[in-house]
Amino acid sequence: MTAEAPQAPTHQSLSEFRNEAPLDFSRPEVRSDFLNGIAAARASFPLEAPLVIAGRRHKTAEKIACHSPSDRAMLLGHSASASESDADKAVGAAAAAFAHWSRTPAEHRAAVLVEAASIMRRRKFLLAGIEVFEAAKPWREADADIAEAIDFLEYYAREMLRLALPRRLQPYILGERNDLRYDPLGVVAVVGPWNFPLAIPCGMAAAAIVAGNTVVLKPAEQTPLIAYEMQKIFEEAGLPKGVLNFLPGRGGVCGARLVQHPEVRMVVFTGSRGVGLEIVRRAADTRPGQPFVRRVVAEMGGKNALIVDSSADLDAAVPDILYSAFGFAGQKCSACSRAILLADVYDAAVERLRAGVESLKVGPAEEPGTQVPAVIDAEAGAKIRGYIELGAKEAKPLAKADTHGLEAKGHFVPPSLFAVPSHKHRLAQEEIFGPVLAVLRARDFDEALAIANSTEYALTGGVHSRTLSHLERAGNEYQCGNLYLNRTTTGAIVGRQPFGGFRLSGIGSKAGGPDYLRQFLVARTVTENLMRHGFVPLVEPPPERLED
Ligand code: NAD
Repeated sequence: MTAEAPQAPTHQSLSEFRNEAPLDFSRPEVRSDFLNGIAAARASFPLEAPLVIAGRRHKTAEKIACHSPSDRAMLLGHSASASESDADKAVGAAAAAFAHWSRTPAEHRAAVLVEAASIMRRRKFLLAGIEVFEAAKPWREADADIAEAIDFLEYYAREMLRLALPRRLQPYILGERNDLRYDPLGVVAVVGPWNFPLAIPCGMAAAAIVAGNTVVLKPAEQTPLIAYEMQKIFEEAGLPKGVLNFLPGRGGVCGARLVQHPEVRMVVFTGSRGVGLEIVRRAADTRPGQPFVRRVVAEMGGKNALIVDSSADLDAAVPDILYSAFGFAGQKCSACSRAILLADVYDAAVERLRAGVESLKVGPAEEPGTQVPAVIDAEAGAKIRGYIELGAKEAKPLAKADTHGLEAKGHFVPPSLFAVPSHKHRLAQEEIFGPVLAVLRARDFDEALAIANSTEYALTGGVHSRTLSHLERAGNEYQCGNLYLNRTTTGAIVGRQPFGGFRLSGIGSKAGGPDYLRQFLVARTVTENLMRHGFVPLVEPPPERLED
């Protein structure tokens, strides 16, 4: 630990885990603080995010420019662009730091996380301001991302203290002691997405670090600036040099090198299915000089549905669908992208959805009234527009929100609603990751469930119903990692709704839940026969003889 390392919490000194409360924007002073955070972020641009390897900053010849998605002309800063050999150096630094960090008591490691959480709390408005520009996160979404990052830090700190307690296993009558202990793995590569640009990289890195591993963090190309703020916070919190190394750059270059590096013991990835599956394939290779099978946790996409049955309260169901589908422009892995409406509520629900979509307020994220911001970049915009064109040709366009010509300035796409002819159609099967909602009609609840379960994904799902048997059946039969009944399908909270899916939505245990940290540890048992048959004679002579 460094001299300025925070004081280790004792088990007693840590209160029970409590979620970070969302900001109360009804209070004028909170709105004014948020505006100040936006102003402070604006004043801080252009920012620079260098490589950080063993605590030392490095620039690279190539740089990646960051522009605001809401305003292409607004330069926010640059990040370094790591090469393969930079990736090797970062892994070398992490491997060197492992010897010390892995032996640092769990209490000290947890203390660093708790300290990082309190720095983030103090810096919340500035961090949110940076996200508003860099990721085009509207106010509430930016606040939620920072709050989730704080939650991950506080939650995993406590989880590690729980796992670090010595565990005596079942006693054996013939004098045998069995202990279970968890040890860290080694160097962990953390590869993050841009859509929760602080919370997800922070959660993945914090879990690895508190478990005693060392990390090379590769943030998404689109959001390195907020990720660098996190790097600095960990350093200020007392994390020793080399434990967290920061490697901004291109996924196909430094990311690809990291995930198959022979010294990288584990890869933790959140992102698209294509990249995730490629990582799983590459990481499986055991190369010469690699004495382990690499572990991979890969959280990937979704094609989430919300079923509305005949007994649903449409006054509640429609706003929940609209928020789940169009909040943050549909760029959440948990976003609802299929509304499955039972035949006898179909017309009424569609009419309301139509009105709802047409009234959505599209705008720059920094404006507090914005409901649907710009999408992350030109590539995402082009992909989403391709789906909208496909919908215009092969489905029935139902509604579109007005973008007021904002496309000329930023990466805006019109929130769109389509009635899709079949649940097998591409609009109903492929992850679009934008503000596009497919509406499907189901004869009855059986068919609705079958449609909901008909994709290759299993991430989130929802049902709006006032029929108990339907809610129960959904609990048993709906194939998704996070099922939400009579509410939105987004906004999982650490500790309350541990998050993650299965099928092609991912492999790994849920983030923010009690099983997550174990993935970063190896379990060992120590068995001792207590029925000793005499003792080994002392090797050293007894003290009296020494005095002779
Ligand atoms: P992405 O797959 O394009 O990129 C994710 C990260 O992988 C980035 O850091 C990128 O640079 C890196 N990368 C790209 N190619 C690589 C390679 N060959 N080797 C190693 N790394 C590489 O995803 P994205 O666009 O940033 O994120 C959006 C996707 O993430 C969506 O599909 C969404 O559903 C998913 N997501 C899932 C969850 C979840 O918990 N399941 C959460 C958030 C986002």
